[in-house]
Order: sequence, then structure tokens, then C-alpha cells
Amino acid sequence: MSFAADIITLFPDLFPGPLGASVIGRGLSDGLWSLRVTPLRDFATDRHKTVDDTPSGGGAGMVLRPDILAKAIDAVSPYGDPRPRLLMSPRGKPLTQARVRALADGPGAVIICGRFEGVDQRVIEARGLEEVSIGDYVLAGGEVAAMVLLEAVTRLIPGVLGAADSTAEESFEGGLLEYPHYTRPQVFEGRDIPAVLTSGDHGKVAQWRRAEAEALTRKRRPDLLVRKD
Ligand code: SAM
Repeated sequence: MSFAADIITLFPDLFPGPLGASVIGRGLSDGLWSLRVTPLRDFATDRHKTVDDTPSGGGAGMVLRPDILAKAIDAVSPYGDPRPRLLMSPRGKPLTQARVRALADGPGAVIICGRFEGVDQRVIEARGLEEVSIGDYVLAGGEVAAMVLLEAVTRLIPGVLGAADSTAEESFEGGLLEYPHYTRPQVFEGRDIPAVLTSGDHGKVAQWRRAEAEALTRKRRPDLLVRKD
């Protein structure tokens, strides 16, 4: 079974965007994963295709209506659909490589892209939406966030990356940032490749990489060393 992604958005033309390029795009056209994009406006009921309304209690901006979003969700993800329903949201749980890997191992995802001030709380609860954030900053909409999530997930689907591209040693796998990389030329602007990397001693190389990864993680992301997700 391949990974089935559904997107609900006000801006369907933004897709597949970068997801149509390179290995991810090839995986899409080869059927290793699928992408269906549903325009939220198709579920509006008035002549003007309205999907939002003013916030109850006052304040700036507009809020996506729960009834219209619920209809869109029910159309793409009927009762019994095993896929998680993700709402891209700066209030959500920060996306991690562990969550990305779990998603890649699953049947797919229904991804809702917010806009304006956000989404009515009642539809989040009524449809069991899992709020996911891609970082502690605010985007104009959920589309780019959905692409970030899908790019991270789909590159892990077997067959999407070439066999030579191992994902097992990458940053965040095993709770560490990745060690530094080097390639030819041997000397660049007076800087040498560390001698161990050209020694031919695979054991020493592995040891050096592990030590570098640990040192870098301790320096830049000590939180990863204590985090358990
Ligand atoms: N009023 C919201 C708040 O303060 O939390 C921000 C809404 S933002 C302008 C509009 C939409 O962009 C959100 O509903 C969400 O779908 C998306 N978005 C913005 N930042 C995001 C982030 N860091 N991660 C995931 N989605 C994000």
C-alpha cells in the first residue's frame, strides 16, 4: 500500500509545487505515494464561496468556519479512514523526525492547511484533528508547512531515494545531529580534510563521526540529548 496524502486548502494551485520536483516528484509519478488536493471553497454553500467569518468575541482577522471544513474533511476522509488528520498550526506539537518516520510507515495523512487567524476550535475537536507545527514562527498559511511535512515524510518512503542515499545516519536519527561532511579537493583554501577520513580505517572513521556528532549536538542542540521523542 502506498502513502496516500490528501490536502485541503484554499490555494490548490500551490500543489504539488516543490513536491513535484526531483526524487519526491519521481516517486509521485511512479505511484510510490499519491497526492490529492481538495479546494476548501468547493464546500462553500453561498454564491460568494465564503469559507470564513469574523471571530466570536471580536478581534482582528477571520476564522475558517467549522461546518464547511467538516464537510471537506468528511468528503476526503470518511468514517473509518485509518489516516491521521493533521491540521498545520503554529500552536501544534512541533514536528520531529520521529513523527515523520511514523507517518512514513503509515497509510498516509489528511492534511488541512489553515489560513487567516486559524480554524474554529469545534471542528478541531469534532474531527479529531492533530495540530502540527513546523517551527516557532508564524506563516501566512498552512500550505508551505504541509509541503515541508510531506517532503520530510515522502523521502522516507522505500524507493523514493536512491539506494545510495541512506537516511539512517542523518540528523535527528538516533537523537543526534549529523557529523560534518568533506569531499575533494584534499586541500581547500588551506583547510585539509581530517586525516582520519582518508586513512581507510572504517572503524576509526565511524568512531570519529560519532564523536563529532555528539560534540555538535552538545554544542548546538543539547535539548536533543535529553529528548525522548
Ligand atoms: N493566529 C494564528 C496563531 O497565532 O496561532 C496564526 C495563523 S497563521 C497566520 C495562518 C495559518 O498558517 C495557520 O492556521 C496554519 O495553518 C498556518 N501556519 C502558520 N504558521 C505555522 C507553523 N509554524 N506551522 C504550521 N502551520 C503554520
